Amino acid sequence: MSTPGLDGYAEPWRKPEHDDLAEMARAFFLKEVVPHTARLEQQGHPDRAHYLKAGELGLLGLSVPEEYGGGGGDFTHEAVMLHEQQLAGEGSLGLAVHSGIVTGYLNAYGTEEQKRRWLPKLCSGEMIGAIAMTEPAGGSDVQAIRTRAVRTGEDYLVTGSKTFITNGYLADLLVLAVKTDQSAKAHGISLLVCELDDDAPGFRRGRNLEKIGLHANDTAELFFDEFRVPAANLLGGEQAENTGFYQLMRQLPQERLVIGVGAVAAMQRAVGLATAYAKERTAFGKPLVGHQNTRMVLAECATRTRVSRVFLDDCIARHQRGELDVATAAMAKLHLTEGQCEVVDRCLQIFGGYGYTTEYPIARMYADARVQKIYGGTNEIMKELIARAL
Ligand SMILES: Cc1cc2nc3c(=O)[nH]c(=O)nc-3n(C[C@H](O)[C@H](O)[C@H](O)COP(=O)(O)OP(=O)(O)OC[C@H]3O[C@@H](n4cnc5c(N)ncnc54)[C@H](O)[C@@H]3O)c2cc1C
Repeated sequence: MSTPGLDGYAEPWRKPEHDDLAEMARAFFLKEVVPHTARLEQQGHPDRAHYLKAGELGLLGLSVPEEYGGGGGDFTHEAVMLHEQQLAGEGSLGLAVHSGIVTGYLNAYGTEEQKRRWLPKLCSGEMIGAIAMTEPAGGSDVQAIRTRAVRTGEDYLVTGSKTFITNGYLADLLVLAVKTDQSAKAHGISLLVCELDDDAPGFRRGRNLEKIGLHANDTAELFFDEFRVPAANLLGGEQAENTGFYQLMRQLPQERLVIGVGAVAAMQRAVGLATAYAKERTAFGKPLVGHQNTRMVLAECATRTRVSRVFLDDCIARHQRGELDVATAAMAKLHLTEGQCEVVDRCLQIFGGYGYTTEYPIARMYADARVQKIYGGTNEIMKELIARAL
């Protein structure tokens, strides 16, 4: 698909190897997964077989070192893969979380034993990863989580509940934010890596939540009632107890960048779809694109997409240098997701009534876009983070 306003643009960090990866990822998403979209939306979650196939092709854990079964690349490789997934219109596989976030936590903080135990299975697709911070009583105030882990001998007993967990219906491996010191706020949080087994006493999956969009990706509730997790599963080892909040804070800029990558790819796809439609569809005896307003709208959307892409690439380059600060990552998440919602909405308008029917991808994109302003820290919280740095 031609992408008006971006044709000929090359990311400053892009190398020939990224083009090969993009081609392979595009072929996988378009040929192997997208044809199943209607069925996957109906079932409300992806196929495990697609995770395994992605693993076989080397598309999972692209930034994980080869010694742990990964691709030996870096964040730019994850970004290219996620961009292609979004451009292909594939929304079932929760790769932004599985590869963009969970493997990142294990890689950054895991002990040698933890990395060897879990990373190869996440990279092969044998295990599906998830991360759980949000609780029914609140998601924005992470310090106020209530799920507690009480040390008893060699284990923790975990009690509490989490909600809105991406990949939660299928997940085998969960990075779980818990309170290990009830009397403390940020200083009392730890991250426990839980191997989820539906038969394990004290663990229960709740509903796979019905959402307005992202119908083929699972978002679930998880319940814990004295669920036993070995103390050895504390991310980073036992000495990392009560450092979970800082581990989270250091990873959140990458999580926000992952969301930004999806946002820009969605804008790019929306402009491409709307431009093609405006050239085909006629009104008042000429193509829509022959009407000045349509041309102006497309020109504005293409410009917004191009500028967003440049800002995203600056953030990716900063992240590569280890210089992406909290406020800049928050600006990226805020600006790019607001841009996505606006661009997709304006492009939908060009489709007229057809844009409101789910037969047209732009309608799905409209519903899918909305949550980008909510998860990964709401955009209101992003503004708080930016304001604090002023
Ligand atoms: C599809 C989907 C997938 C998700 N995936 C995950 C996941 O994988 N893991 C996970 O842990 N969570 C996940 N979430 C949860 C998401 O991160 C939270 O919904 C989000 O952080 C907001 O929390 P909340 O819903 O409890 O809203 P609340 O925290 O109750 O906030 C409600 C409203 O108040 C505003 N608000 C709150 N505090 C302030 C403030 N200080 N100043 C101004 N406004 C404020 C918020 O911006 C929001 O508009 C997901 C959510 C969805 C919908």
